[in-house]
Amino acid sequence: MSSVTVRVPAKVNVQLSVGPLREDGYHDLVNVFHAVSIFDEVVAKESESITVSVTGKWSDQVPVDDSNLAIRAALALAKHAGRTYGADLIIHKDIPVAGGMAGGSADAAGALVACNELWGLGLPFDDLMEIAGDLGSDVPFSLLGGTAVGTGRGEQLSELPTGGTFHWVFALANGGLSTASVYAECDRLREAEAADVPWPQPNDSLLEALGTGDAYALGSHLSNDLQVAALNLRPELAPTLDAGRQHGALGAIVSGSGPTCAFLAIDALHARDLALSLTTTGAAHTAVPAYGPVHGATLV
Ligand code: ATP
Repeated sequence: MSSVTVRVPAKVNVQLSVGPLREDGYHDLVNVFHAVSIFDEVVAKESESITVSVTGKWSDQVPVDDSNLAIRAALALAKHAGRTYGADLIIHKDIPVAGGMAGGSADAAGALVACNELWGLGLPFDDLMEIAGDLGSDVPFSLLGGTAVGTGRGEQLSELPTGGTFHWVFALANGGLSTASVYAECDRLREAEAADVPWPQPNDSLLEALGTGDAYALGSHLSNDLQVAALNLRPELAPTLDAGRQHGALGAIVSGSGPTCAFLAIDALHARDLALSLTTTGAAHTAVPAYGPVHGATLV
C-alpha cells in the first residue's frame, strides 16, 4: 500500500466539569465528548522518513516540525512496533486550530490509524488506544468518536449510547486560545474567590437527554466549567453566545477551552438558519452547521 487516507472528526464537550487542581498539575475531569461532522483528513504516503505538511484554511497556524501531534503519533507508533518507519503525512485541516475542538488530537489519531495501515502493522484498536492515551488526554476519544464520558484526566473513556442525531452550529473565532492558559485562568479565578471546588460528577439528566435523543433537554443541561475563564480571556465571545440564544439555540456554550462557540439547534434546517443569522448579523464571522455523533478516525 503506497498511500492511506483517514478522516477524523472534531469534538465538542457537552459537559466539562473540572475538579480541584491536583498536585501533578492536572485536574480530575468529567468530560462528556461528542464527535461532530467537522473533519480533518490525514494522508500517509510511503517515505524514507516521517514528515508532515498541512493544507487547508488553517494550515499556516500548524507547526510542521516534530512538535506536530501527527508526527509525534507516528513516532510513538513506530517505537511501539520496535522499528524505524517512514511516512509523509499530509493533513488537510478543516478543524479550527487551538479552537477547543481537539484538532491536534484528531490529527494524532488520524496518523495512528493511517500509519498502522500503511506500515502493515495490524495493531488492534486497544493497542492504538493505549498509545493514544500517552499522546494526550483527547487523543483516545478522537480514535473512538461517537459520544463518550471521560474521567481521570479525561482519557479513561466509556462509550455512551445516544438516541439520535443532534444538530449544531459552531461559531469560529479569529485566533485561538491556548488550553493551558484557559486552565490557568480557571485556577486563578477559583483561588481569588477561595471557591470550594466540588469533585466532578456526571450530570444524569444530560446523560439521559443524550440517550433519548432529546435536543431540548440536552440544550438545557450543556455545561462547561472552563467557560467563565475563556470569557474572561475573550470577552467578545459573550455577545456571540447571547446572539445564538436570541436566534433560538437550545443551548449555547464555549467548546472546551474555546474560543469556538457551540450552539445546539432543533434540527438540520434550524442549524442552517441559525448559522446564517449569526453571520449576517455579524455575531460571528464564520458559523458552520454540523451534526453528531459521528465515527472516530476512519479509513476512507
Ligand atoms: P483541545 O480542544 O484538545 O484543548 P484545541 O482544539 O484547542 O485542543 P489544537 O487545535 O489541538 O487545540 O492545537 C493546539 C496547539 O497544538 C496549536 O496551537 C498548535 O501549535 C499545536 N499543534 C501541534 N500539532 C497540531 C496539529 N496537527 N494540528 C493543530 N495544532 C497542532
